[in-house]
Amino acid sequence: MAASVAAWLPFARAAAIGWVPVASGELPPMPFSHRRTKDEVVNLNVSGRRFQAWRNTLEKFPDTMLGSREKDFFYNEEKNEYFFDRDPEIFRHILCFYRTGKMHFPRTECITTIEDELAFFGIMPEMIADCCYEDYRDRKREHDERLMDD
Ligand SMILES: [Zn+2]
Repeated sequence: MAASVAAWLPFARAAAIGWVPVASGELPPMPFSHRRTKDEVVNLNVSGRRFQAWRNTLEKFPDTMLGSREKDFFYNEEKNEYFFDRDPEIFRHILCFYRTGKMHFPRTECITTIEDELAFFGIMPEMIADCCYEDYRDRKREHDERLMDD
């Protein structure tokens, strides 16, 4: 499954550090054999912002909406994409969760917004990464206290 991605990692890393091939000749042949793997790119349209992910990446977490058949309710056959009328800013972090298994979130967002998005996509707050979890817990407590005061 991850083989096709792994094969391209050295190239992606090289591109990231600005590595330029010395040889200007032909590039090595493409590993077409990887096409035989059943993985495919999934198009995700979140309020007009387009995201793409490997289907296998999403299916790493089958208990979530994107990882299950549940997302088929949002599929637009004509456009070959899934459309979600949700917050694209937070979706970026949700997609990151599928890639890394860790859910991080921006501190500038209201905790309620984050919880709403997580609930919609079926991601448990327990999946929030250690680096963000304490902050999430503190802010949730603060938020709940503020609501009680009102
Ligand atoms: Zn974090």
